[in-house]
Amino acid sequence: MNPALSELGRIYPAERLLVQPGQLTPYESDALTAFRARPLAVVLPETTDEVVQTVAWCARHQVPFVARGSGTSLSGGSLPVEGGVVIGLNRMNRLLELDPQERIAVVQPGFINLHVSNAAAPYGLYYAPDPSSQPVSTIGGNLAFNSGGAHCLKYGMTSNHVLGAKVVLPDGEVVELGSRSLEAVGPDWLGLFVGSEGLMGIAVEITLRLLPKPEKYHTVLAAYDSLERAGNAVAAVVASGLLPGAMEIMDHLAIEAAEAAVKAGYPTDARALLIVELEGEAPEVEAEARHLEAVIAASGAYEVRVARDADERAKIWKGRKAAFSAVGRLSPDYLVQDGVVPRSKLGPALLEIERLSQQYGLRVANVFHAGDGNLHPLILYDGKVRGQLEQAEALAGEILKLCVELGGSITGEHGVGMEKRAYMPAMFSEDDLALMQRLRRALDPDELANRGKMFPGGEAPASPAGEGRGDLA
Ligand SMILES: Cc1cc2nc3c(=O)[nH]c(=O)nc-3n(C[C@H](O)[C@H](O)[C@H](O)COP(=O)(O)OP(=O)(O)OC[C@H]3O[C@@H](n4cnc5c(N)ncnc54)[C@H](O)[C@@H]3O)c2cc1C
Repeated sequence: MNPALSELGRIYPAERLLVQPGQLTPYESDALTAFRARPLAVVLPETTDEVVQTVAWCARHQVPFVARGSGTSLSGGSLPVEGGVVIGLNRMNRLLELDPQERIAVVQPGFINLHVSNAAAPYGLYYAPDPSSQPVSTIGGNLAFNSGGAHCLKYGMTSNHVLGAKVVLPDGEVVELGSRSLEAVGPDWLGLFVGSEGLMGIAVEITLRLLPKPEKYHTVLAAYDSLERAGNAVAAVVASGLLPGAMEIMDHLAIEAAEAAVKAGYPTDARALLIVELEGEAPEVEAEARHLEAVIAASGAYEVRVARDADERAKIWKGRKAAFSAVGRLSPDYLVQDGVVPRSKLGPALLEIERLSQQYGLRVANVFHAGDGNLHPLILYDGKVRGQLEQAEALAGEILKLCVELGGSITGEHGVGMEKRAYMPAMFSEDDLALMQRLRRALDPDELANRGKMFPGGEAPASPAGEGRGDLA
């Protein structure tokens, strides 16, 4: 064993220090499997002290490290650095405190998102940010990516629901950011840390805000004969003064896939479906429902269905929730993209995506959090056909540039990671990027924490898998 590794062997028992090739393979990539790299070791800490000792070891030996939750990042965010260390946090998965009076939960970073709401349910409370990966993704990963989900239109992203975090900085120092209340004094260091993609240290304890569960839901499914019309309907709903709990769009390919997978009973002739859900106190929801009915009728929907009970509501959502994985039935491979446009630009953005799809000869399915203007074009391709992956990536790049041109951004919720670092200059000037780097290097001069991510250029953690693919940056 490498002599430095034997020091790690004094911190971890053998079953929590993985060094054999077979043990390392599952950690070589995240959900973006096109990138792979072999780490030197994977450690599975169970305590904050073990994280501190590991990070201090990395600092002493100048070994880069990456924090990893469940590895559901779709942008190569938790991809290891070749020869670096993966700090897998899934075993730090305890609920440390749940205080219904204060409406807070304190969790370890490996705690699963959905388990927060499950733990809060007996008190009539829940945790609002709900990424589609919520049954598997961890709060640590959610915090690092400032994750969003269907409910984030009304309630805000992870950053609006994290009150405090205990963090191990890249030199091993432990700091407390934020507090247990909404009011804090001084600069917003926690705000700087949330969304910093593991480049500023590792969160080891996180204090979350809980909300009361809504009393009533009103769920509407509207069918349109064009994707653009459905996109424009979203802008019309928001412009009317309504703030639904969720607004989601699926296009015809996504509808076809979802129907084949779970038979949600969607109108299969629709070019696009809009799901709008109002939630809150019963009198408020009832009044808003009448208002919504008028807006949807004026938006050109040719069919409107309202869920009459919890079962019908669940059926409407079942199709939407299954849509991502169901798209896998339509094509051997697909790239999940994530970009944002202002809501008012949704219609034109979708029209242009359709045009680009025809130009590239690749089908694009759209399933997305329309309320936030957050697009998820799924670009279908066949990895076995030479050159198709490169074509799919080029199309994805065009869509991201389109988002920026329309006043949006290159990522809504999947992070920049490895995949999108080449597009950062489309959004930020050299000065902006240099300032971000200065902040990061103030904490981590040697760039040990998640090296090679987010910033263009510099050392790439891995070569993309597959023949003939160059570094994206
Ligand atoms: C099917 C599917 C659907 C998805 N839907 C959504 C969605 O609706 N909304 C959304 O936002 N995302 C979505 N994602 C992306 C992903 O699930 C989220 O970004 C999630 O927050 C990642 O959590 P994780 O535990 O898997 O983190 P990982 O993938 O393990 O890590 C993600 C990033 O967080 C860093 N990190 C992990 N733990 C810590 C920690 N404790 N401290 C500091 N940094 C840390 C890692 O270094 C990495 O940069 C989806 C992914 C999939 C596969």
